[in-house]
Amino acid sequence: MGEYEAVIGLEVHAQLMTETKAFCTCPNRYGAPPNTLVCPVCLGMPGILPVLNRAMLEQAMKLALAVGATVHPRSKFDRKNYFYPDLPKGYQISQYDEPFSTGGSIELKVDGHRKSIRIRRIHLEEDAGKSMHQADGSTIVDMNRCGVPLVEIVSEPDMSTPAEARAYLNEIRRLVRWLDVCDGNMEEGSLRCDANVSVHRKGSEAFGIATEVKNMNSIRGVERALAYEIERQIGVVEGGGTITRQTLLWDETEEIARPMRRKESSDDYRYFPEPDLVEVVVPSEWAERISRDLVELPRARCMRFCQEYGLAEATAEVLAGERGVADYFEALAKESGDPRRAANWVQGDVLRILKERNCDIASFPVSVSDLAGLMNEVETARLSLSGAKKVLDRMIETGRSPESIIEQEGFAQTSDAREIEEVAREILAKFPSEVIKYKSGKKNLFGFFVGETMKATKGQANPKVASEILQRLLS
Ligand code: ADP
Ligand code: ZN
Ligand code: MG
Repeated sequence: MGEYEAVIGLEVHAQLMTETKAFCTCPNRYGAPPNTLVCPVCLGMPGILPVLNRAMLEQAMKLALAVGATVHPRSKFDRKNYFYPDLPKGYQISQYDEPFSTGGSIELKVDGHRKSIRIRRIHLEEDAGKSMHQADGSTIVDMNRCGVPLVEIVSEPDMSTPAEARAYLNEIRRLVRWLDVCDGNMEEGSLRCDANVSVHRKGSEAFGIATEVKNMNSIRGVERALAYEIERQIGVVEGGGTITRQTLLWDETEEIARPMRRKESSDDYRYFPEPDLVEVVVPSEWAERISRDLVELPRARCMRFCQEYGLAEATAEVLAGERGVADYFEALAKESGDPRRAANWVQGDVLRILKERNCDIASFPVSVSDLAGLMNEVETARLSLSGAKKVLDRMIETGRSPESIIEQEGFAQTSDAREIEEVAREILAKFPSEVIKYKSGKKNLFGFFVGETMKATKGQANPKVASEILQRLLS
């Protein structure tokens, strides 16, 4: 970026996980056959009356309170008017000048430094339908998404690099999933992000004119789109041009952002108060109850993992990356009585397996008690650590119990000193010149003897016992 600095502010839309839509009783569900989850209310037929879904407000409040925002006792809905085929009503119900929540912040850690990103506002709105552009140039519309409850989280322009934007989105995604208010799936569009970005010369106080980039369907996509747009804007300014307010569409495959339209101003939307809905009233007891009932938040949980279980912060952060993983770890720590080892198993093997199988902790096939049982086999030296990892892999592959795998597939470790000594003697006999070198001072050959002994027992010798025996035989 050289002499330039970028300024980034994000508008994030999150679909809330309510049973029904925002203002009608249609199911709020993704993936149903097109145009099957609709009714006169969400299709905007004449004479309809919307009614606010209480669960929508409650979930939005959880999110607002979790980021330290103020939930206002009174707010209202407005109509945002625009004309597009996926908006049959001709307007979107949103909140304009009196959002239900303002303030709050998201704490980031990017490349080792910490930064707090202020949130300007969080407001309630409804989703529009979905246009699908066909190969033959025509467009078809699915109205199932009309009226799906959304929160829009508007940040202050506090980010200055694409990496910070990525960290912010990761944090929002973790939080909405943690709170169970949104599944955070950017590919399916349940979490979406419009990115506002401008550049200015280093040292200049005033920000540049911002453009808005839309249509990214992954966090990486947002990061790439921002990098692209920052580069483009610098190019324009360097070439003596000026940046105009406009909206660009990110093209994932070409990795370029194409201008879509001049950026609308709020005047273009002719906002006015929604006459069919009463104002949103949140008695303070309600907000207090939600605040009190909030689950322990990721950061608090991470800090507690450090203090209570003596984990390194980096480890605690990985374990608190997702609530289900944090719960699994904590149950395993209790069941096994060995939090640090439990942390190693979850951070290492459990997360690796989840990634390999592309599955969720909720559907992880090994129960906490089976994994604790496996840890215990290592503790009592019936299994070596590497043997236990192999048993875990077999458990996943076969769905069988650890006991039956250990017994039937011969992973059990042997601590039988006589058996191991026999093998150790054979090894020493097989490498007489190494033994001579060892005895004349090349002590680092010891590892070689242990390795050969382990190999000869197919990894089943208890390495501690094998070392003791070799020490004795070589002295
Ligand atoms: P409005 O949509 O009412 O015009 P703004 O454009 O001020 O509101 O803000 C919309 C988003 O753009 C916010 O997330 C804000 O942080 C961001 N933003 C505002 N000004 C800039 C700027 N100069 N550069 C980058 N982002 C900006
Ligand atoms: Zn409906
Ligand atoms: Mg909006």
